[in-house]
Amino acid sequence: MMDLRELYQEIILDHGRHPRNFRKIENPTHTARGHNPLCGDRVTVYLTLDGDVISDAAFEGRGCAISTAAASLMTEVLKGKTVAEGRELFAHFHARVTGGEESPLSEPLAEEMERLEPLTGVRAYPARVKCATLSWHAVEAALKGDGVPVKTE
Ligand code: ZN
Repeated sequence: MMDLRELYQEIILDHGRHPRNFRKIENPTHTARGHNPLCGDRVTVYLTLDGDVISDAAFEGRGCAISTAAASLMTEVLKGKTVAEGRELFAHFHARVTGGEESPLSEPLAEEMERLEPLTGVRAYPARVKCATLSWHAVEAALKGDGVPVKTE
């Protein structure tokens, strides 16, 4: 039997090696780039919004296993969510990985948060927190639509 930590490591390695939604969206409604100079991670996120719903989410980039796995898992949980739900998930995820105060999550989002749980182990490694949150910051920038690449520094 694998313990939970091993399982989480397996999930990160799997998503790091075989990232989901690793592609460019042609004509995205929102896109932004992100760069984490501390680790060298680079990501470009693409979103297609249908009204207020994120109907498609994808990314391209190069980075460490954690940044790639984080972007992969993020695109999976964002699909089908509203922008407000996406932001709520990010706020919660950010609090989990930085040790900040967590706001309560509504039921369907709590389930999605469980899928991000493997990444919350970075909390013990402050330098890796930026790897885990880079793609989320890029999504935030994309939604703001100011087109300025985000840097985690
Ligand atoms: Zn990294």
